[in-house]
Amino acid sequence: MLFPIRCFTCANEIAHFYGEFERRNKENPHTVLDELGIYKMCCRMIFLTHASNILDVAQQFEYKKLTVSKNTLKSMSSIIKAKK
Ligand SMILES: [Zn+2]
Repeated sequence: MLFPIRCFTCANEIAHFYGEFERRNKENPHTVLDELGIYKMCCRMIFLTHASNILDVAQQFEYKKLTVSKNTLKSMSSIIKAKK
């Protein structure tokens, strides 16, 4: 799935940050977005919920806080793989 060129809500151009965000996918995503200068919640939401990196972002958080179980992640990854 392609990353959107602009934010759906505020129309800010965000696509040119995606490469750096994806390259640093093992770091805390909130820190990476802060360092890239993406502070608006609407733009951050697009990075954090993009289908190709949702699993990387979800694994950065403790499973108990998000109540995301490993079975949920497995089912999410199978859905994403099926769409590719
Ligand atoms: Zn935005």
